[in-house]
Amino acid sequence: MIPSVSSLPLRCWAEIDLAALERNLRLIRASLPPHIRYVAVVKADAYGHGIQQVAGRLMHAGADLFAVANITEASQLRELGPGWPILLLSPLLPEEDRYVAEYDFAATVSTPDEVTRLDAAGRAVGRALSIHLKVDTGMGRLGVWHEEARGLVEQITASANLRLAGIFTHFASPDDQAFTEEQRRRFLSALSSSGLDTLPPGRLFVHADNSAGIETMPATSPFNAVRVGLLQFGILPHSSSFLSQVQTETVFSFHTRVGIVKRLPSGSTVSYGRTRKLSRDTRIAVLCAGYGDGIPRSVSNRASVLIRGGRCPVLGRVTMDQTIVDVTEVPDVASGEEAVIVGKQGTDEISVGEFSRWADTIPWETLCSVTKRVPRVYRTALGT
Ligand SMILES: *Cc1c(COP(=O)(O)O)cnc(C)c1O
Repeated sequence: MIPSVSSLPLRCWAEIDLAALERNLRLIRASLPPHIRYVAVVKADAYGHGIQQVAGRLMHAGADLFAVANITEASQLRELGPGWPILLLSPLLPEEDRYVAEYDFAATVSTPDEVTRLDAAGRAVGRALSIHLKVDTGMGRLGVWHEEARGLVEQITASANLRLAGIFTHFASPDDQAFTEEQRRRFLSALSSSGLDTLPPGRLFVHADNSAGIETMPATSPFNAVRVGLLQFGILPHSSSFLSQVQTETVFSFHTRVGIVKRLPSGSTVSYGRTRKLSRDTRIAVLCAGYGDGIPRSVSNRASVLIRGGRCPVLGRVTMDQTIVDVTEVPDVASGEEAVIVGKQGTDEISVGEFSRWADTIPWETLCSVTKRVPRVYRTALGT
């Protein structure tokens, strides 16, 4: 008999601590003024954590609105229950317009063409569709250029089948305070030139800040919502004294196990391309994970993993299914033993940030790169 996959031992897995996620949302909320609404960004399978599990927990924890990239992700949220407001952050393909109407999603609009199309989609179902207008204040991606916002607002107001539910912008370099302030100024002036600044507070979602923006949010302003992605997973977008005070916990950790342990003599080389020549007799462990699981090839000869609480450097190139590490300094490593790729073991921790620096990338990409071969194991205890 073929055993069911779920009963087989795990060779490489990600642990997702949903109780930590919930505590993070509550801490982030508590650090913000009470009128600020919480937009939970759960695109890209909730940054690889699993969209349904993450969104389910954030619904319980009190998120106000969910933001996803596309219709597929939005549908996965809709399956969790009707009623939750869902914002689509990416542009719609023309043939996707009708799903916005059918499933009651809110679309992001940047162009007159999108306004015309969505107004027609609303007319087809006989009800007004919610949209958020995006303003380009210097990101140079989506959004109407801030100096042209007024015309688009007029077009939206004149569209009988559209309801303006929000207006927002996105920061290009939130760690650059001067440019971020300039973007805020451009946004506020677009708001007033289009007459939206006189609406009753709370009538529209007015949002700009992602995780990194939060620390520069002015105490009083028309902004009444934040869009939180990375920070709710317990990872700081950059070193920030304000954000580190929030004391979020990392939700994600990445694990594998030792396949074999063996000795290689001094002078021999390790793995493809022979990029690593051993200068001493070495005990190596071959781990049961490689780039097919999301350990990028760029960490070859750079990363370390934790085994028995000790740091074991990666030797040579990461391969598709296996990664070789040096366990000479760690006594008694045996087949089957756990190795932590990202996370805590004993008193040591490899953070998503540290791992990302080894990979020459950013934490967002590290999280999105864990492949679908890797089962996500959910820890759901309420904890402390
Ligand atoms: C992904 C995204 C966010 C969340 O950003 P974090 O830095 O992960 O908090 C916010 N706004 C938009 C438009 C996004 O695309």
